[in-house]
Amino acid sequence: MDVSMSKGRKASLIGLGAMGAALARAFIQNGFDLTVWNRTAARMEAVVKEGARGASSAADAVAASPLLVICTIDKAAAAQILKLDDVASSLMGKTVVNLSTGSVDDARGISAFVESHGGRYIDGGIMCYPRDIGKPATSLLYSGDSEAFEEWKESLAALGGDVRYFGNDPGTAPTVYLALYAFYFGCVASFFEGAALAERAGVTPESFRETSKMMVDMLNDALPDTTRRLELEEFSGDQASIDVHHAGQLVVRDAYRVENLSCEVTNAYITYLERAQMVGDGPNDIATMYRAVKGAS
Ligand code: NDP
Repeated sequence: MDVSMSKGRKASLIGLGAMGAALARAFIQNGFDLTVWNRTAARMEAVVKEGARGASSAADAVAASPLLVICTIDKAAAAQILKLDDVASSLMGKTVVNLSTGSVDDARGISAFVESHGGRYIDGGIMCYPRDIGKPATSLLYSGDSEAFEEWKESLAALGGDVRYFGNDPGTAPTVYLALYAFYFGCVASFFEGAALAERAGVTPESFRETSKMMVDMLNDALPDTTRRLELEEFSGDQASIDVHHAGQLVVRDAYRVENLSCEVTNAYITYLERAQMVGDGPNDIATMYRAVKGAS
């Protein structure tokens, strides 16, 4: 997305932790007239040296710009700030973009509060570590006020060029955000389990990482087939049945037991496979495990 239109535009940013400071730098580097505020004032010094204006209070920061981005430890902290009397009374006509992690209820509640004070609200989720903020391929998720999003999307592209908008409901982006991190960190946890097992055979974590790229490729090949099968309800076990996967995973689990290593992700996977078997999906494709996962709630 083209962020060149952001030259000379104003933005305010509240929250200058590891992530907030990276957001601040991206705004500054893209030519924004940036005002920042952080609860612990000392944390403002570095970005002020780089060109931001340090606000004297949260309300001062809100008043300074039409766009307010918040990146505090969680949405509850963001709500606390927005509900301060002098902040709430400054929200009229402002667009608030909240990139703090939090629940869907928090997002919807904060949205209603901002709107009731004459502001517009967009919730968001950052899909990277601070080091990747500002890069064209970096993804951020957004949902909430569609007019406000249209107005500010070029500016928001300064934070990460892969801007994903999920519609008017401010609860959608945080739901997808939480689901994506559940997926990602499940993969990270299983990578560590795999690396620990491979290390027992003298393979270093770095060497295992290099080799494991083939499984990332396999995942990228397998998942479209899985979702295609779910859409078509085509579950024949022509590739590998639930029963075949289950038998293989018992061997995997034994390997961990022999090495006295923990394998919580493998245990969870076996649990889901056994649930699928219990409802008669043993001969069917691995895609049927999705039904077992959903039935768990
Ligand atoms: P940090 O712990 O580095 O910073 C937390 C920030 O929140 C600080 O500015 C802190 O202020 C502020 N804060 C905490 N409690 C309050 C409060 N009650 N009132 C006002 N301000 C408060 O966290 P990050 O910067 O890493 O993370 C910020 C958000 O970004 C989180 O929601 C996180 O989940 C999300 N995120 C972070 C990623 C990362 O890789 N770091 C990746 C994706 C999302 P003070 O300096 O005064 O303590």
